[in-house]
Amino acid sequence: MLQIPPKHLPYLHKIAEAAQEVAVDSYVVGGYVRDLLLGKGAKDIDIVCVGNGIDLAKAAAKRFPDNPKVVVFKNFGTAMFKADGFEFEFVGARKESYQRNSRKPVVEDGTLEDDQNRRDFTINAMAISLNEDFGQLIDPFEGQEDLRQGLIRTPLDPHTTFSDDPLRMMRAIRFATQLDFDILPETYQAISAMSDRLKIVSMERIIVELNKIILARKPSTGFKLLFNSGLLAQFFPEFCNLQGVDEKEGLRHKDNFYHTLQVLDNLSQNSDDLWLRWAAILHDIAKPPTKRFERGHGWTFHGHDALGAKMVPRIFRNLKLPLNDRMKFVQKLVALHLRPISLTKENVTDSAIRRLLFDAGDDIDALMLLCQADITSKNANKVKRFLENYEMVRQKLHQVEEKDRIRNWQPPISGDEIMATFSIRPSREVGILKNAIKEAILEGEIPNKYEDAYAFMLRLGSKIGLEANIENEEKFLENDPPSS
Ligand code: ATP
Repeated sequence: MLQIPPKHLPYLHKIAEAAQEVAVDSYVVGGYVRDLLLGKGAKDIDIVCVGNGIDLAKAAAKRFPDNPKVVVFKNFGTAMFKADGFEFEFVGARKESYQRNSRKPVVEDGTLEDDQNRRDFTINAMAISLNEDFGQLIDPFEGQEDLRQGLIRTPLDPHTTFSDDPLRMMRAIRFATQLDFDILPETYQAISAMSDRLKIVSMERIIVELNKIILARKPSTGFKLLFNSGLLAQFFPEFCNLQGVDEKEGLRHKDNFYHTLQVLDNLSQNSDDLWLRWAAILHDIAKPPTKRFERGHGWTFHGHDALGAKMVPRIFRNLKLPLNDRMKFVQKLVALHLRPISLTKENVTDSAIRRLLFDAGDDIDALMLLCQADITSKNANKVKRFLENYEMVRQKLHQVEEKDRIRNWQPPISGDEIMATFSIRPSREVGILKNAIKEAILEGEIPNKYEDAYAFMLRLGSKIGLEANIENEEKFLENDPPSS
């Protein structure tokens, strides 16, 4: 028998009373029922009623403390309110079908059975009655048994379920990945046969499912299913291009698709940050377009870090991911992902360390996590050595940061001050001076102090023919700029 948590019972009783008041049958459906049977906590409670869901929502909300505000989505015939940390969503039972090549379903009122038929998987098609038989589980497709066996299966013929809404193919893989379930072979075959139908689904809906796959404990499971079924190629061809190994003169390179997935899984053990996981997905994205074979040397991917960073905005735009500071974060990590390796060499200077701290700023720890995850050698000795090297880099970063405070540092002289000092407009010279000051400090040629930077600016300005409009310029020009 189903055990509804005692804390939830009062809510469900209130909804049951409201349903009696508006004279409709009502049921809890979908993810809540599934997660209850899996012993997981839920945040959303979806209610289906045979009648008008909006009326039921309004009647139910009145029975909750403080009469929570009901948000109505008239076009969808749904309504929701929040209470006690839960989201209650109400909808009338529906029958719906999608026309070929159209995203718009034809929707009609239906029975509970109709509603269960149009659900995506047996494990999501169970309902709990809130009627006379309160608490009774209604499980027409043996979803409980599929939960026990760890199976993703469509309630109807998979071709019907998927052609009604092709997003369900993505959802099959999403649930298989999140729950570590298998997809029934017949269901999976239908996905492979129908993968090109995903084209009619909006990218916004696809990306919601993809991000849930990426946030799973082992995202590679989902990516392999997406790739092998042909779904991935429908919306993320750049990622598919990573797959494959070339051979010339007996030399092969590694398969960058499986390498990237290994990096993503490694990283996922240490970070739940969606965007850091995206950085792992994209860190080698420019390897295919930069791949060259150099005689006597082998395969190279020169510049894949810089080109990869350049590709990030287009990929984000195509995938309808946000074009904000999260994208910039991913771009920065892709651009910098080779830098910590270069710091593992023995005689690395403080200035190289300062430069990385300056370029990475507050994202230095995320970058180090990415680099650590990038070690995918099967040779345990090599992995150990690389990890030790990175530990050394971490220590050096820490020491230099303690000493020089570069992480959140801005060079002490701004462009405005340069323009005011030399009475010049925004121009190339301003950039040259600003950059030279930054470089001199990072290289350790002058101390990281305002007075030293100011004197340096005056000396350099005078060298390139600029005249400062200050009285005591002479004092600053006494010393020559340090030689670089
Ligand atoms: P989670 O909360 O982990 O995302 P969920 O099952 O609650 O899981 P939702 O996307 O909120 O996922 O969907 C709620 C329920 O609505 C599902 O359990 C399923 O019954 C149904 N559902 C959602 N999307 C579809 C769809 N595209 N086709 C058919 N049924 C769907």
